[in-house]
Amino acid sequence: MSYIRFASVAALLGALTLACLAQAPAQKGKSDVKRQDFGKLPDGTPIELYTLSNAKGMQAGIMTYGGVVVSLTAPDRTGKFADVVLGMAGLSGYLTPPPYFGALIGRYGNRIGHAQFSLDGKVFHLPANDGANTLHGGLKGFDKRVWKATPGTGGDQSLELTYTSQDGEEGFPGNLSVKVLYTLSAKNELRIDYTATTDKNTVVNLTNHSYFNLAGQGEGDILGHEVMIAADRFTPVDSGLIPTGELRSVKGTPFDFSKSTAIGARIGQNDEQLKFGKGYDHNWVLNKKGGMAKAAEVHEPKTGRVMEVWTTEPGLQFYTGNFLDGTLTGKGGKVYPLRGAFCMETQHYPDSPNRPTFPTTELKPGATYHTTTAYRFSAR
Ligand code: BGC
Repeated sequence: MSYIRFASVAALLGALTLACLAQAPAQKGKSDVKRQDFGKLPDGTPIELYTLSNAKGMQAGIMTYGGVVVSLTAPDRTGKFADVVLGMAGLSGYLTPPPYFGALIGRYGNRIGHAQFSLDGKVFHLPANDGANTLHGGLKGFDKRVWKATPGTGGDQSLELTYTSQDGEEGFPGNLSVKVLYTLSAKNELRIDYTATTDKNTVVNLTNHSYFNLAGQGEGDILGHEVMIAADRFTPVDSGLIPTGELRSVKGTPFDFSKSTAIGARIGQNDEQLKFGKGYDHNWVLNKKGGMAKAAEVHEPKTGRVMEVWTTEPGLQFYTGNFLDGTLTGKGGKVYPLRGAFCMETQHYPDSPNRPTFPTTELKPGATYHTTTAYRFSAR
């Protein structure tokens, strides 16, 4: 290369570097995720709160304790934002603890019957924390663990949370490395990508336990919300809310949400399944076959807010806050009444480790667990 050509290439590289440096602050500003201290656990562990924002003004507050979505704002039909998830006023409120408000749930979301399962001919005993059964990962599930947070850089604002669950933790086999990526996209969607790997055969079923009220958190009950669930069948349960193994047609039952119907329209019917759940607290068998598809849509008629739920999962636990009873006071001093929120927990079916006919929840070394769920907001 002649000296002249070398010099002009060097000059070009220099100019490019300067141009990149000039760009850097703007790029950084775009992807800056806000970080705040959110208090300390009784043992002194500091907890952080991260706030994701998008260009349309939506915000999601996520803390490192339990990976909890502590707030999520969405616009109504006039463009007015409200926080649409229930939550506590500060960290101490989450230590009591409330019923899984906004939390990441693992290792096994939902119930495992008789607090045990067998895998490769070995029986694993879990703590029973819901009658005789194990609910949401046991006594100290992922909702009560401190996650390590790394904000994303560039593009949509995101937050990566990681946690390593030790072999034998809450009775489950294998060291499980879990990564959850929260992304607030320009489509007004909070997307959650769950990834996990193990070093021994184990079972995994991860979800998020946000309690939604599309009229705004603390704004009464959700009985007027209209719900569509893309499912022709659900998994009926026994009185302990453990599936019987049947996949029952929703046709002609209060469980038929194939056409949008108000939550309150049939919730009081004299139906054995509704009695067992004290309302809706059941898993729907989504019609979708593989891939990411729309599982549900909820519309709140007064504000016009709409939430669509998209997922790669085969099941959806639709829970209508039947255990809320007006004794919890949350954010902004709001009191949360019976059915003051609903949950849409995307998941594999409850008690799958004991039900070989259900889609498997087993994870083997060398394989990667990966699921995605998105809560998409609009108004009409
Ligand atoms: C369960 C309910 C339980 C609630 C705890 C839901 O996922 O299905 O039965 O009461 O979590 O808040």
